[in-house]
Amino acid sequence: MAEDVERPEDANEVEEEAKLEDIATEDEKSEAPSRFKRPTLSNPLGLIFNTRMLRRVVQILFFVGINGYIFAAWWGQDTLTDFWTSMAKYLPTLPIIAPLEAPFAVMAGSFDTMLREFTSASFPFFTLGAMIIFLVVLGRSSCGWICPIGTIQDFATLLNKNKIRPSPGTESELRKLKVYILFFAMFLALWVGISRALGTVDALVELLGPLAIAPFDPFNPAYIIFVLAPEQNWPTGFDSLWILQTWGPVFWLQLIFAVLVAIIAIWFPRWFCRWLCPAGWLYGIFSRDALIGIGRNPALCTPDTCNVCEVVCPMNIRIRKFPYQHMHSADCIMCLECRSHCPNNAIVLRFA
Ligand code: SF4
Ligand code: SF4
Repeated sequence: MAEDVERPEDANEVEEEAKLEDIATEDEKSEAPSRFKRPTLSNPLGLIFNTRMLRRVVQILFFVGINGYIFAAWWGQDTLTDFWTSMAKYLPTLPIIAPLEAPFAVMAGSFDTMLREFTSASFPFFTLGAMIIFLVVLGRSSCGWICPIGTIQDFATLLNKNKIRPSPGTESELRKLKVYILFFAMFLALWVGISRALGTVDALVELLGPLAIAPFDPFNPAYIIFVLAPEQNWPTGFDSLWILQTWGPVFWLQLIFAVLVAIIAIWFPRWFCRWLCPAGWLYGIFSRDALIGIGRNPALCTPDTCNVCEVVCPMNIRIRKFPYQHMHSADCIMCLECRSHCPNNAIVLRFA
């Protein structure tokens, strides 16, 4: 089934592996980081004011902003709570994963919201409309700059310079997992929604439990971190460690998975986004031909002797196999890491 829905670029990737010899040798690849563009002493401000730093700041702001309740819980500020609650009314959903139920959540992920609407037997007109408009114009920049799970992985990745890049064939196989998860979640959501519309949902809800509300939630690290974890009793010292025994085995498994999302990202950047996130795959359908995208300047790009952009790409995209004019990749999250590191300044933002 996954083959049927596999994107053409994924299929081509394996085929082209044979054609596109990795131009840089293994030695050159390991040397690649030393060729990265770095701020120099002649441009010290570049250490602070650069795209990478800007993205980190935006990611932190949204990580906190999406979960503004954290401050309200610590400081007990009614004003702050009122502010976040009123903001939540006006901000649309965004193409990220962020649970609707997180206390004082300012915005929810489009995919999370869409599943909830399906299971409650309503069609997500507004959610889909807002999601598609965003993706068609800005691509998956929300994945690269806003999604809290993307942010967690990106910061974990900063701990290690030596990343592991699976071969295109392995990468292509692993990417199919998120397609299976998407179909699983959509099937359950539509089943529950239709049963609800027919008035026969009660038995199904009993059978599916939490899966009947939003079928991706139990496997969604954002739901585990921002909804389930705050709901648990946490030990406050050694003498209260016994509280951990009150956590159910399912929550323990979910917690371990959420922690693994960060730990594995130390070696495999954005591994959850690349292989497991069904929302990311759905978003990619609409972002692939976005108005704003990435291209390469053919006068500056030297693909025969350089692969720096591919080495630094957290989504492991084989950038050089795309046409110079526009890299129509459904996996690009517009993080601009390739642009920041290209030693020839060959990566450019393309419009339309
Ligand atoms: S692909 Fe990654 S960044 Fe995008 S929604 Fe999924 S977890 Fe978030
Ligand atoms: S191609 Fe460039 S902008 Fe797109 S995900 Fe890779 S590094 Fe980020």
